[in-house]
Amino acid sequence: MTIRSYAFEEFIERVRSFHGSAAPGVVIGGFMVEMAYQHLFEEGLFDAVCETNKCLPDAIQLLTPCTVGNGRLRVINMGRYAMALYEKYQGEGVRVFLDQTKLDAWPEVKSWFLKTKSKKEQDYQILMQQIKKAEAEICSIQKVKIAPRFLQKQHRTGFAICPRCKESYPITDGAICLGCQGEAPYVVS
Ligand code: ZN
Repeated sequence: MTIRSYAFEEFIERVRSFHGSAAPGVVIGGFMVEMAYQHLFEEGLFDAVCETNKCLPDAIQLLTPCTVGNGRLRVINMGRYAMALYEKYQGEGVRVFLDQTKLDAWPEVKSWFLKTKSKKEQDYQILMQQIKKAEAEICSIQKVKIAPRFLQKQHRTGFAICPRCKESYPITDGAICLGCQGEAPYVVS
């Protein structure tokens, strides 16, 4: 099984340069994306949804035209190692998830996924060998239909200038911008 057009080792290199390390989660994510594509009904414009913010979004961004920045990848963090590709207008698609009931044959993957071993106890080489061998065998797939509220385009509602910081912000956020309402991640000096 190739990961889209990449051989396994080739994909590892892509992951290393994009993600910063050859993280097992991104590599497994590559097989998940491949599996999703193999089960999509036809060519079309597909958007993506990812149910975790760890690792998997990067596999999607590496292998599909969907990125967080272009709005075609939405991360809805539910802490599940799962993603879906769906036709962007009708919402019909496929969901792929890492299936813990299929992990018994791959003990190193299992202990990595369920975090039953410390990082120190983990054997990265064996883990990667098992991921390479397992390919998408540790995943399951199901048909899904994305709920209409997630398909709707977000309409721009107009911008205002925040009276405090003088920066522009969506007027629907209130009388001052979210940053000045206390949502900014910076220490106030
Ligand atoms: Zn402001």
